[in-house]
Amino acid sequence: MAGFISKDTIDAIHNTVDIVSVIGEYTKLTKRGAIDWWGCCPFHSEKTPSFRVDAEKKMYYCFGCHAGGDVVKFVMEMEKLSYPEALTQLAQQSGIPIRYEDGVKPDLIKQDNKIEQYIELYERTASMFHYLLMETDSGKKALEYIKKRGLTDETLKKFKLGYAPADRKWLKQFLLKKNFSEDFLRQSGLFSQKYPDYAFFSDRLMFPIFNRKGQVVAFGGRVIPPADESQRKYLNSGELPQFKKRETLFGFNFAKDSIRTNKKIIFCEGNMDVIAYHQCGLDFAVATLGTALTEDHIKMIQGFVADGFVLLSFDSDGAGQAATWKAIKLCREHSLTVKIISLQGGKDPAEIMLKYGKENLTNQVNNAKLDVDYLLNILGKKYPVDTPEGKTRASLEFFSYVDSLQSDIQKESSLDQLSQTFNLKPEAVKRDFLNRKQAQERISIRQNNNQTEEQTQLNLNAELRGLIAVTADINQFEKIRSNLVETDFLNPDARRLFRVLEDCFNSKTFSIPDILTRCDNKALSQVITNEISSGVYQKDNIDTIVNDTIRFIQKNKIDEQREILIKRIRDYVVVTEDDKKQLDNLLIQKLELDKKAQSLLK
Ligand SMILES: [Zn+2]
Repeated sequence: MAGFISKDTIDAIHNTVDIVSVIGEYTKLTKRGAIDWWGCCPFHSEKTPSFRVDAEKKMYYCFGCHAGGDVVKFVMEMEKLSYPEALTQLAQQSGIPIRYEDGVKPDLIKQDNKIEQYIELYERTASMFHYLLMETDSGKKALEYIKKRGLTDETLKKFKLGYAPADRKWLKQFLLKKNFSEDFLRQSGLFSQKYPDYAFFSDRLMFPIFNRKGQVVAFGGRVIPPADESQRKYLNSGELPQFKKRETLFGFNFAKDSIRTNKKIIFCEGNMDVIAYHQCGLDFAVATLGTALTEDHIKMIQGFVADGFVLLSFDSDGAGQAATWKAIKLCREHSLTVKIISLQGGKDPAEIMLKYGKENLTNQVNNAKLDVDYLLNILGKKYPVDTPEGKTRASLEFFSYVDSLQSDIQKESSLDQLSQTFNLKPEAVKRDFLNRKQAQERISIRQNNNQTEEQTQLNLNAELRGLIAVTADINQFEKIRSNLVETDFLNPDARRLFRVLEDCFNSKTFSIPDILTRCDNKALSQVITNEISSGVYQKDNIDTIVNDTIRFIQKNKIDEQREILIKRIRDYVVVTEDDKKQLDNLLIQKLELDKKAQSLLK
């Protein structure tokens, strides 16, 4: 049919294009057998390869998410292209001339040509800016600045850094002379929307932004100090047909081979960070372009680092820390291992490179901490973790990290690490984790009502009633104490009262007024007074109330342990003899818990 890419062209694409090398651009493939190549699937998150490419049949298939097809389908899915667009891209990459049925070219392909024309425009502009920086007087100030920051000529050339002249009208004149039309330039993103004769970037140090093929598709511009305060320090091109911020990483074209070989990537904040890392030989660094890390970014790299790790190198200020948190969760949700680079001795990689040299920076990268260690350290500083309240807050914040982990083993070991770091009982931590939603709600209610905290409604549940009964008959406390510890109580008000009772017990001052005096919470002491004066707690029923409370809490505890155990048993995959033994062991543990739960019901 007219306008369609000819069958001959499509055949030529299928015969010529090497599917292994096309897919190898997106995930690391390893040869297994004569025609089989395997890698981690670029379409879903996984740690062990289940994505197979058959070099003979020229097909791919994922045993995890069932994605599959030929090389054209792959490019369509990966680059979000239509069928003719994908064919065109593959043909161009392999130097295959494209012919159309009846020789008619459809509009769609013309649109594609427009993207090519924009790229040509940006390439030319980048070369011109580069020349102005390196060779002319007008770029001198910018060149001096960037050299003072330690960049070598080789680096400036590699990243094609440039200078956009102060005269805003210069660029238009230059490009018109190169035969680009007025209309085309107006839509190019290089000029002000309102004043199309004026360049968007002026008197700035220019960083070309490359696509994965190494073509210039956009620019970032930095003011050259000393500049006036009113100017934005960094300016990036807006969205363009050839440039989507969410899907572009600065430096990716230079870094992708190294990311694949080293199985690691550094995500950093700015263009200068990337360039400094590359100059120091850490050439697997990339940066997002003024946006947070996105799903699309992760997709670009997850096939390369699935069995390696991601390094995060963000600022240590508040915004940087928030970005780090978010990035950790996003990476963990995609089953990627994360380490954090906490730079010492300078505010960014370029400063450290300049002050202490390449080796120092490399060492700092090699000493990056696992995310869990980084987070526990941060939380330890953020909250007063020597108090129960501080421990609770820190734990709750940490639970959102645990939530992002994709394996139960990882969840358990990070909870263990939490309990060790803040000196908490492992069982209590696990129980709090299971109850985290409730606890988080309670914390947020408490925070919202901070000023009116004293009036806040207490949660008068079985736990608290049991302890109020103890307050009415102090002799019962020894029984509670020998059966339960503070962290066994889930209700924070019950915990508070338990602490008060413990204090009274230790100081042997054990009257109701003593207890009320030690109770530093008005609402709680009010509830205690009301409950006791209501007369529900009498000598003959207190014993039953206390026994019921102990049983109730122990039963809850066992139920939770059972839940964890049942989940572990359900998820257990038996491969070796040893696994079988382990599983038997879990089943025995469960039977014991069943028995205990039964005995509590009697
Ligand atoms: Zn898959």
